[in-house]
Amino acid sequence: MRLHEYQAKRLFAKAGIPTPESAVARTVDEAVELADEIGYPVAIKAQVHVGGRGKAGGIELVDDAAEAREAAESILGMDLKGYRVEEVLVEEAVEFTDELYVGVTMDRNAGRPVAMVSTRGGVNIEEVAAEEPEAIAREHVDPAFGMFDFQARKAVSDAGIDREVASDVASVLTTLYDLWEEHDGADAEINPLMVADQAVVAADAVFNVDGDALFRQPDLAELEDETAGDELEAKANEYGFDYVRLEGNVGIIGNGAGLVMTTLDLVDHYGGEPANFLDVGGGAKADRIANALDMVFSDENVDAVVFNIFGGITRGDEVARGINQALGQFETIPKPVIVRLAGTNAEEGMEILDTSLVQVEETLEAAVQAAVAAAEEVTA
Ligand code: GDP
Ligand code: MN
Repeated sequence: MRLHEYQAKRLFAKAGIPTPESAVARTVDEAVELADEIGYPVAIKAQVHVGGRGKAGGIELVDDAAEAREAAESILGMDLKGYRVEEVLVEEAVEFTDELYVGVTMDRNAGRPVAMVSTRGGVNIEEVAAEEPEAIAREHVDPAFGMFDFQARKAVSDAGIDREVASDVASVLTTLYDLWEEHDGADAEINPLMVADQAVVAADAVFNVDGDALFRQPDLAELEDETAGDELEAKANEYGFDYVRLEGNVGIIGNGAGLVMTTLDLVDHYGGEPANFLDVGGGAKADRIANALDMVFSDENVDAVVFNIFGGITRGDEVARGINQALGQFETIPKPVIVRLAGTNAEEGMEILDTSLVQVEETLEAAVQAAVAAAEEVTA
């Protein structure tokens, strides 16, 4: 579960991490009023559960009330990567000399938490991580002991942080680790941790809580913002699907988690980008298939859909009838659908499938390649 920036900032501030003065607004008037109170310049920041808001136009720096109004008008209600902006954070703008990065997450390969520091914070940290991983200093932590002060100092020194702020950054990192540990964090991140006047301030805040640990984090569970969540994930809950929305444009439906994971990997392998993980589970009858199609069709990022069904107890002919019936409800099929059926009654199934509605492929590889190609055609 993700916290909003303002919720994470409150958590961080309470633990002693410096944050800029800020308040949340839900209307344009409220935003302008808060900006006047805080004093210009201020940053107006969309509160949605996505990263990269700066690049996507969800953050504006303004110098007076008129600009604040204009920014609030454009940001409130906007669609940011598929999320509607209902709230903005109005925040004292920081005049910074450097943008640092600090983060804590679980390093699954090492089987340990890892604390990270970099002088290359700001909106391009993903590129830095991909292209120059050595620019991010890493320190693994033994969860039985927690992070030692010397480890924080070492990470800060390895990252090449300026002397003037080194001890402040080390202390922020230690606090962030402690918060991550105490509150069952999945990811905790401050990017940027701004350097201003030889002091540091957390200009952004990310805190994702391990969803399976929410039962013992009641204070954080209460912060869960159902409405601001992904509408599609809410829908998936309603339908009872295991669903995760991803960033790509190839919709994926399968029966069985392993099968769906394999399909995701293959989409990636053939140069595509998965739009989602969707497991319809066993015994998928027509209404369930229809619901699954409704999910992927209503995801505006999806350009093509690949169905990967392995018939076990769920028989291929049954699934095929379900697909026909589900697609028969649409006047026009909004996005190309490619189906691969294998296992029990697969041949019968493939014969039943209405090829005026779907493209049928015999192998998983062919189906995935066809879907990747179809999606590429749309984006081209
Ligand atoms: P993200 O893009 O969703 O990660 O949002 P951030 O909160 O990290 O903001 C993105 C970028 O906006 C930062 O890296 C800064 O360059 C800029 N920014 C955000 N807040 C401020 C601020 O208070 N002052 C200044 N000068 N720039 C800011
Ligand atoms: Mn950020």
